[in-house]
Amino acid sequence: MKKKRTIVIKTPKLVLIRNNFRKLWIKWSQDIRLNIRKKIQDVDLHPDGKPKALDEMTPQEQELYEQLEVKLSQIRYKLEASICLCTICGRSNRNMTFNPVDQEWYCTQCYEQNKEFFKNTDKADWYP
Ligand SMILES: [Zn+2]
Repeated sequence: MKKKRTIVIKTPKLVLIRNNFRKLWIKWSQDIRLNIRKKIQDVDLHPDGKPKALDEMTPQEQELYEQLEVKLSQIRYKLEASICLCTICGRSNRNMTFNPVDQEWYCTQCYEQNKEFFKNTDKADWYP
């Protein structure tokens, strides 16, 4: 997306549906990340529960560990970059504005506060 975009939903029933879809997405993302963390623990912990250093892992374990860490980061990034969460306050139940400058979604309140805060500075173009 290249343009600034604000999505406003005012109808209470639609707000409820939107918020519930966002909660589902967030919960799904959390469940997947929890599952990946369990797989990481299988690799980076000794059977007695003590942490395993990278050089104590077999090459296959190191490769799996790195793949799981990358996957974990990607899923976390996708959630944080989605319209489900405000970049600033982390709320998921508000109308959102997409900022084309940093490619992030903000709740309309945070976006307007930042725009107001930066309007007379050299960073005014950060919030079109
Ligand atoms: Zn916010």
